[in-house]
Amino acid sequence: AERRLNDREKLASTGQIAAGIAHEIKNPLTSVKGFLQLLKESYSHPYLDVMDAELEKALETLINLLQVSKPDFQEEPLVSINFCKELTSLMLLFQERLYNVIVEMDLRDSEKTMLGKRNLFLKAFFNLIKNAVEAIEDKGKITIQHYYENEQIHIKVIDSGVGIPKDKLNMLGTPFFSSKSDGTGLGLTQVFTTVHEHGGIIRVESEVGHGTTFHVKLPVK
Ligand code: ADP
Ligand code: MG
Repeated sequence: AERRLNDREKLASTGQIAAGIAHEIKNPLTSVKGFLQLLKESYSHPYLDVMDAELEKALETLINLLQVSKPDFQEEPLVSINFCKELTSLMLLFQERLYNVIVEMDLRDSEKTMLGKRNLFLKAFFNLIKNAVEAIEDKGKITIQHYYENEQIHIKVIDSGVGIPKDKLNMLGTPFFSSKSDGTGLGLTQVFTTVHEHGGIIRVESEVGHGTTFHVKLPVK
């Protein structure tokens, strides 16, 4: 099963509603957190710490949501990005979780760079690799490919994990769509927004029980 993941409209409408709600809730929560800090200066109670930690979690989710649904939420300059270098360092972040996973890095055209928002891309590829790691239950393999073709940079994140059922493919990228008990369902929304904002295309190919490939194509200019 394969689908071209570029339906901006769905993302635009659900994303905008989500961003609007996130914005409205973020301000009162920030103020509650502020008063909680003041309270903690006068009283000490373990419940206050729990409340503080829970508020922090909620705020993190909201900020995440604002970031993924409004790409211009955080202004970021365009810089020259060398994906081969960035992907290599990103993989190091997952080392601890990769004891049962074979990692293959196939990074060709390593001198190619692209003008883009570096932090958005680091987060996007972090999200794709994290999903690949999480898709592998027992043992498996993750392959990261990078090559240059037709004036585009191609990056593939391939895993031999559980795969995605055909009827779930068009849910990917919808904010809060998750099949995981502890998932946020915001990872792919961030990935799609970032790729689209840079004039790129993302495709997914998946077979249940065999694995998934995310293929990102980005114009160099
Ligand atoms: P989360 O990881 O928090 O669930 P994401 O937006 O990153 O949210 O992914 C949404 C859903 O898409 C996942 O819950 C999972 O069902 C599916 N998915 C994404 N990537 C993969 C993958 N590599 N293999 C299998 N399923 C995936
Ligand atoms: Mg994820």
